Order: sequence, then C-alpha cells, then structure tokens
Amino acid sequence: MNKKTVSDVRVRGKRVLVRVDFNVPLDDEGRITDDRRITESLRTISHLRAQGARVILASHFGRPGGKVKEELRLDPVAARLSELLRAPVRKLSDCAGPEVEAAVAAMKDGDVVLLENLRFHPEEEANDDRFARSLAALADLYVNDAFGTAHRAHASTVGVARYLPAVAGFLMEKELVYLSRALESPTRPFVAILGGKKVSDKIGVIRNLLTKADALLIGGAMTYTFLRARGHQAGASLVEEDKIDLARSLMEEAAQRKVVFHLPEDVVVADRFAEDAAHKIVPAQAIPPGWMGMDIGPRAAEAYGRIIREAGTVLWNGPMGVFEFPVFAGGTREVAKAMAESSAVTIVGGGDSAAAVEQLGLADRMTHISTGGGASLEFMEGRELPGVAVLLDK
Ligand code: ADP
Ligand code: MG
Repeated sequence: MNKKTVSDVRVRGKRVLVRVDFNVPLDDEGRITDDRRITESLRTISHLRAQGARVILASHFGRPGGKVKEELRLDPVAARLSELLRAPVRKLSDCAGPEVEAAVAAMKDGDVVLLENLRFHPEEEANDDRFARSLAALADLYVNDAFGTAHRAHASTVGVARYLPAVAGFLMEKELVYLSRALESPTRPFVAILGGKKVSDKIGVIRNLLTKADALLIGGAMTYTFLRARGHQAGASLVEEDKIDLARSLMEEAAQRKVVFHLPEDVVVADRFAEDAAHKIVPAQAIPPGWMGMDIGPRAAEAYGRIIREAGTVLWNGPMGVFEFPVFAGGTREVAKAMAESSAVTIVGGGDSAAAVEQLGLADRMTHISTGGGASLEFMEGRELPGVAVLLDK
C-alpha cells in the first residue's frame, strides 16, 4: 500500500487523534447488537497504547443531524470498548471545547479517551475548517481507521488532515490492501458477483469491474432490468425502465471485452412482495405476467457456485434475492456457501451483503468482509476516497 500507516510513525508520548467508525447497531434498550466495528478497531488502539501513545478516539454515531440527541451518545460504546481493551476508556461529554481540552491535557501515555459523537456538531459533516482545526488542536498526529466513512469529506475525515500528519490505521490498511489487490492484481479467474436492489446504484461498479473481471455473475433485482434488455418479459419484477438501454450497452461492452456476462437461467417468482407469498421456480425467459422475481433459481445458484469454486478471486456485492425473507434467501445462501468453500480470495463489499454473510454464519470463512458499505462501493467504482487521498504517501 502506498499510504503511511501507524507502523511508519513514532507515537511515544504523543497525543494521537484516531478517527474510528463506532457506528454500531443498538437495540431498543440501547444495547449493542453487533460490536464488529469496535472489535475491528482494537488492533490499532492496542498498538498505539503499547507504543505509549495517548489515544483520543473520535467517531460519529447515527444521524443526530447536528444536534445533541441523548440516545446517540457514545457511552455504551465506551463501556464495550473498555471491556474489550480491559482498560478504562473515558467518554468525554463533547468533542470540542475547554472541558475536552483539559481532559486531553491530563492524559498519560497509554490512556484512552473517547470524544462524544462528532455529528452532534453540524460543522462535522459540513467539513467546517474551524471545527477541523479544533479537533486537530487536541493532538500531534492523526490516524484514520474509519474506512466506512472514508468516502465522505467531513471535518474528522478530511479537514483535520490539513493540520496534522495523517496516516492510516490497521483496519483502513487492511481494507485498502484487500480491495485494491482484488481490483489491481487479482489471482485469475477474477469473478465479480453483482446483485442487490438497483442497477442504477451499481452502474459505476459494473462499469469498472467490466475492465477488470473475467466473468460477471448477475443476481438480485437488477437481473430483471438485464432480462428486459435481452428482450424477455419480467412480469411484475422490479425493473428500472429507464435503465434498460444502459443494461443493453453494458452487456455489449462485456461482449467486446470478452468478459463472460452471466444472467441466472432460472428464478424464483412470487405472486406478491411478501414473506408468505405463493412462489415457484421458472426459467428466467419465462416469467409469467403478474409474478415478480424474488431470487435466482436453484439451477442458477448451482451454476454460479461452480464458477465461484473454480475462481482465483471472487468479489461480491449485492444479495442474489430478497434474503430478508427466508424462502427467497436460497440464492444468496448458495453463493455465500460456494465462496466459503472456494479456495479463491473472497471479498464481500456492501452493507446488506455483509449482513447476509454474517447472518449465515459464514463471515469467518471469507478472506475479507469490508466494514464500509458505501465506501467499498465507491472504491469498487474505481474512485479515490477523499479520506484516503489526504493520508500521507509512503
Ligand atoms: P448492498 O448493501 O450489499 O450493496 P443493496 O443495498 O444493493 O446491497 O441491495 C440489498 C437489497 O436488495 C436487499 O434488501 C434485498 O432484499 C434487495 N433485493 C435483492 N433481490 C431483490 C429482488 N429480486 N427484488 C427486490 N429486492 C431485491
Ligand atoms: Mg444496501
């Protein structure tokens, strides 16, 4: 990787501002239901502490919209982090101001504090320069370990790097290494699996992957726009009418580039969008009027599984069907299983895809699951993320 990381800098006795992504899900009682984002940041935090740094953590949490929202305070996160680190984590009541400055001034080497939710201040998302400067003034060095927010130019992800030397944390490094290796020097055959809700969300990703992958496997709702582009009927399936021409030109581009473009040979259709809808398996070219495609069919899942098992690299974004409803989760499950069994480098990007893999209990069997939904999508589009661009080059 061409960016400096925490391994490249001396931190002993220094105040280090670490931008983390502690935007974890909570249940109704305010308990953390999935602490992966906290556990993934432990490596960087432990390294800094062991090296004698004073660790000042900063994160956003939910969407408070620039106002203090009591239910979006970071106290439960500080408590969980403290358990995991087996060390005290002092949660401050704000992320700027004299009280915060005093608390930071009183820190000793190895101490950890967590600033309050950055998005309680509207200046954070506005990338306000004064706010960025006040964050920077707390520290001697800046570490960005929040890959999931790296596609946003906010005060704590971009602005602050104007005033402090800025390096990547280990989680950021891991994300960049796996994703860029898959895109730039994949072990071949390189198979990209694309699904999810909308073609329009994924055009940039499909375009970029067409220039890199050997084969594209299509599933999810976008299947039906592509089927229409091939001249088939799609019944009541979700189709983006205004993207049919584009779908056709993407398939033509794939043919020109000799990228194998797979659509499912069969699909599971339902008579309405519901968990308990009547459903049946039909050939993809024969979706009956009034029925909607909810999942790829078993033949398609088997064919995709075979391709995945023989791949060198597999990059997956977007579920194959409406996996939230168990009867329509089969295609997503088979693809995830094939990836788990494959000896290929397997990478999962996208929030819902990552959730599906977690839910299936297969997360440990993937090479890498990106912690950044939107950020991983933008990365797969081939765009430079603003939060990465500002980090120091090696
Ligand atoms: P990711 O977050 O991994 O990028 P998306 O957000 O693009 O994925 O898509 C996930 C959503 O797509 C899921 O909520 C799933 O129910 C929906 N989806 C998948 N297949 C279909 C389909 N055939 N019809 C309607 N929705 C679908
Ligand atoms: Mg999503």
